[in-house]
Amino acid sequence: MFCQKCGTQNPDDASFCSQCGNQFFFIDKPKSNFPYKPVGIISAIVSILFFPIVFGILSIFCGYKVYKQESEGWGIGISTFGAICMISGLIIGFIEGMKI
Ligand SMILES: [Zn+2]
Repeated sequence: MFCQKCGTQNPDDASFCSQCGNQFFFIDKPKSNFPYKPVGIISAIVSILFFPIVFGILSIFCGYKVYKQESEGWGIGISTFGAICMISGLIIGFIEGMKI
């Protein structure tokens, strides 16, 4: 790796720069900034009206991501909401189809 301060090349496992003594610190991989929470909720609502399977699964997936990364309660809530909306969308779609 190269020192961020002076540009000297150092071994990859070095914790200090051999040239200037700059301390290397490893920045944790940033957590995904994707807004799973709002996307999950919006997808659930959209799934009632359009493409219930696609948006329903998307919503459940977002709920799962929220569960893993942010909050278990919200994750379960969004996944459940997504599943209910997907089923509602399927039923509505089925009834709409029956009319035609
Ligand atoms: Zn340096």
